[in-house]
Amino acid sequence: MLKENLKEVQENILKACEKSGRNPEDVTLIAVSKTKPVPMLQEIYDENIRDFGENKVQELVEKYDELPQDIKWHMIGHLQRNKVKYIVDKVCLIHSVDSYRLAEEINIQAKKKNITVPILVEVNIAEESSKFGVHAEDAIALVEQIAQLENVRIKGLMTIAPFVENPEDNRQYFRNIRQLSVDIAAKNIDNVSMNVLSMGMTGDYMVAIEEGATMVRVGTGIFGERNYNK
Ligand SMILES: *Cc1c(COP(=O)(O)O)cnc(C)c1O
Repeated sequence: MLKENLKEVQENILKACEKSGRNPEDVTLIAVSKTKPVPMLQEIYDENIRDFGENKVQELVEKYDELPQDIKWHMIGHLQRNKVKYIVDKVCLIHSVDSYRLAEEINIQAKKKNITVPILVEVNIAEESSKFGVHAEDAIALVEQIAQLENVRIKGLMTIAPFVENPEDNRQYFRNIRQLSVDIAAKNIDNVSMNVLSMGMTGDYMVAIEEGATMVRVGTGIFGERNYNK
């Protein structure tokens, strides 16, 4: 069943790329596996998916230990500073950096391990009070500040769009964050690239791709509904 779900998502990605004249190679599907057991991840891994997204440090670390080492783990959830040390050398990208203090801690831990850590700056593009992320008007200043940190590398922006019935309702938000990334790129800040745009989830990834997403984070569409009561 997971196999069929995955296939459908992959076909939808191709359709969205075709519609918008984009190269499918420029869009990475991240299988968001939070709350799902290891055998389900293995099933998707066996279908050649290597990018997995988790939002909790402990869960990521446990799965990291149990699954093949060539998996690229994406930290997509809110990250507490005291937990950075557990994942800093296990993830390929931290999507959810929304403060200088967090970036600073990532820098400290990265330095200890002699690595540079790729990150995205999370932007609260719809200004929802329930969401993490920096406001768009503060993003450039934050990027400039984080860019000074030696062992952190900004690769782009991430956003979590509002939960909507009609994905078209999020199109303008995707457009706005894409424009923001173009504006930041134009500033040619040292150590900063804006090649990654992480946006789009199960409800709206096709629209996100049409508006320039280079990473889509799909959970429910692949693994089914999550059950938080277990
Ligand atoms: C859970 C989660 C997703 C996936 O959500 P679905 O709607 O299940 O696809 C994507 N991004 C983040 C940050 C998440 O926490």
